[in-house]
Amino acid sequence: MKKILLLNPPSMQPVFRDCYCSCPSKGAFDIHPLDLLIQSGYFSTPDYNVFFVDAMIEKLTFSQTLARIKSLSPDIILSLTGAIVLEWDCLFFNQLKSALPTARLFVSGDIARFEPQIFLQRQPEIEGILLYFGSNGLLEYIEKGSSPYVFTSEQSFSSTVPIQSFQYPLPNIDIARQYSYKLPFFYKPSYYSICTSFGCPYTCRYCNTHLLGYARRPVDDIIEELHWAFKSGYTSLYIRDATFMVDKARTLNLFQKWRHSKLNFQWICFTRADLLDEELVENASQLGCCLMMVGVESYNEAWLHRMSRFMKIQDIFRAFELLRKYKIPSAAQIMPGAGNDLVNRKSYEKRLYHFIRCLDPDYISLNIFSKRPGLKTDDAGLLNLASHSQSYHAIASRINRKFYFHPRRIIRHLQKIVKWLKWGRTKDIFLTIFS
Ligand code: SF4
Repeated sequence: MKKILLLNPPSMQPVFRDCYCSCPSKGAFDIHPLDLLIQSGYFSTPDYNVFFVDAMIEKLTFSQTLARIKSLSPDIILSLTGAIVLEWDCLFFNQLKSALPTARLFVSGDIARFEPQIFLQRQPEIEGILLYFGSNGLLEYIEKGSSPYVFTSEQSFSSTVPIQSFQYPLPNIDIARQYSYKLPFFYKPSYYSICTSFGCPYTCRYCNTHLLGYARRPVDDIIEELHWAFKSGYTSLYIRDATFMVDKARTLNLFQKWRHSKLNFQWICFTRADLLDEELVENASQLGCCLMMVGVESYNEAWLHRMSRFMKIQDIFRAFELLRKYKIPSAAQIMPGAGNDLVNRKSYEKRLYHFIRCLDPDYISLNIFSKRPGLKTDDAGLLNLASHSQSYHAIASRINRKFYFHPRRIIRHLQKIVKWLKWGRTKDIFLTIFS
């Protein structure tokens, strides 16, 4: 029996680096390393003994993680990696390979996925890169010596790997429940992550997710996993799609089967404002949606269109009104500086804050543009954003303070705190306030 270790490596700063995306973690949020959980299902056979170490959630140091891995003595390691902590990850991989020279090392992560040649030239101790974490590519590669979903320095590379379907076995239950990942949005903070699709069909020019392609899971597979998650004791759910509800008919079909299953979850998701209409929002509300994170990015419609994000500002306002009407808390994702058509940054800041106040979301998430791996852009506006990131960070901090300390927001948060106190969640109150 071979031993395989699924590893979320240690890092000097809190980060997420799954689903071919890496970013700093904000607040007291624990996010499942989904690539690893999905892969755990493929290796749940009598031929493999699967181990899982999440050094991020355990807050392990390099040496503690190495000691743990040495004690497990795995034959194969699949580790996450991420562009924003690449230097540290590479340093760790060097130490890992020195400590366990015979272990076969594979990685999954944005920088490796989008720039595989460069990555392997830099880190020759890595045997291969998993190009599609929804596939059985790693298992196939280990068993047969090659797979279109594993990039190695010996194999010719096609950056557009064939992603025809998104079907995967249920995760290994022991791995899925080894750690308790928590988010403060739920009545029961310990939650389960599920995907209904992979990648994104849209083509926003500042985002690399669409470079992955797009594939949907069969609705019956999703329902089967919902049953499985519920039976495993979860009633809180994070739908991890980059963009949920892309296809209205399919989403309503999923909602209908979900309702017939009588499985009650509180759930959260990411979506686009222009996808939301009354029927979808009403159904989502009835099914227990307790947060929709909606990409807004900019108040400047012309800029959105230039970025291939064909969305009207009035549609964005309509979506937030619908969420209020059906009592679904909303989070607006905004990119400070995006579409800034004002030379004076003070005027821009005022205008952006006014826009956010009018939109009136429950939360805001202000994310400064940085050029993501794989993204080829010569757009002057985006390059300008990246070169003035310090100023926009300062704008984001001021807007965050003004937004969350506005009396209207304080009243809403006090209402939430009363609710949390009723739920017995005093610890979350402190974590949220001090994060
Ligand atoms: S809709 Fe969202 S995930 Fe999709 S390409 Fe645009 S920004 Fe990226």
